[in-house]
Amino acid sequence: MKLPKPLRDFAQKHNFTWDAKANLLYGSWQGYYFTIAQNPSGRPTHIITLSVGQTDGRPSQALSGILGNLQPDYKYLTDFSVDGYQAKIFFQCRFAPQVKTYVQQMDEFIDALCMSLQSAQLVNCCQKCGSPEGVSSCLANSNPLLLCQNCRETAAQQIAEKAGEMKKRRGNFLSGAVGAILGSLLGVAAWVLVYRLGYIAAIVGLIMIVCTFKGFSLFGGKLNVPGILFCVVLSAAMLYVGEQVAIAWEIYDTFRTDFSVTFFQAYQSIPTFMEYDEFRRAVIADMAYGYLFMAAGGFSVIWSTYKQHNVAPTLQILESVTPVAPAASSPVSSESDAGQQ
Ligand SMILES: [Zn+2]
Repeated sequence: MKLPKPLRDFAQKHNFTWDAKANLLYGSWQGYYFTIAQNPSGRPTHIITLSVGQTDGRPSQALSGILGNLQPDYKYLTDFSVDGYQAKIFFQCRFAPQVKTYVQQMDEFIDALCMSLQSAQLVNCCQKCGSPEGVSSCLANSNPLLLCQNCRETAAQQIAEKAGEMKKRRGNFLSGAVGAILGSLLGVAAWVLVYRLGYIAAIVGLIMIVCTFKGFSLFGGKLNVPGILFCVVLSAAMLYVGEQVAIAWEIYDTFRTDFSVTFFQAYQSIPTFMEYDEFRRAVIADMAYGYLFMAAGGFSVIWSTYKQHNVAPTLQILESVTPVAPAASSPVSSESDAGQQ
C-alpha cells in the first residue's frame, strides 16, 4: 500500500521508515520510539503505539494521565488505551478532504506527547518486562512489539515451538471430511430455513462455506491444499442440495392437499418444473447469488484458515531502539538531551 502524500511528508520530516507490507511507519522522534499502523484498507485510520516506563524499569502511573490530558485538544484522536508499559492511541479521520489537517494534528500530537513524556522522565522500554536496555522493535505476524533481548528470546522460543507443532500435526483427512459434511449439512439446513422464511437464501452461501471449513478443522482435518479443495467442492455441491430440498419442499407444500403428493414425488418432479422459464430463472438466480456470496466471502475465509494451519508465525526484528549496555545513564536520543536526565 502507498502512503498518502501528507503522511509521506510526515514520515520524511520525522525520518520514519515505511514498511508497505506491514502497513507500518516506525522510528524515533525526540528520543521516543513510535510505530504507526495504517489501516490496511487505506482509510485514514491509524494506531500509534509506544512503550515507555520509568528509568528503573517500573511502569509509569503518569502515562494514562498524560494521554487523558492531551486527548481533548485533538479531535481526530478518538481513543487511547494503556496496558502496562504499552500505550495505543487511535486516530481516525472520516472525510478524505480533511486528511491534510488530520496528519498535521497527528504530527502536533506526537510533538506534544514527547514533551510530556520528557517532563515525566519516561524512557523507551520493553513492553513485557519494562527493561529500558537492549530494546528492539519487532514484528510478530505484522503485530508491532517493543521487546528487550530476554523477552525477544522467550518469544522466539515460543514461536519456534509453535512452528514445530504445526509441522508435526498431520491431521486426519477422513475425520476432517466427516466434520466438513456435518458442517455443510448445517449450511443446507440454514439455506432451506432462510428460503422457507421467504428471504433470498444467497447470503447463506457464505455461511455454508464457513460451516464446512469449521467442521473440517474441528474434526481434526489439517487444512492443507487437498483439505481446502475438498471443502470448496463440498460447499458448492451442498449449496445445490440445499436449493433442491428448498424447492422440493415448496412444490410439496403447494400440491400436497389437492394432489396428495409425497415429499419424494415433489423432489422427483423438479425437472418437470424446470422446463418452465420463470421457475428455472428463479432457481438459477438463487444459485448464482449463492455462489457469488460464497466466492466473495469464501476467499478471505480460505486464506485466513490456510494461514492459520500452514504458515508458521514469525518474529522479525525491525531495528534496535536502545543499546544493550547502559552507557552512562542516558537513553539513546538523536536530538538534544535536554530534559532527559
Ligand atoms: Zn523484556
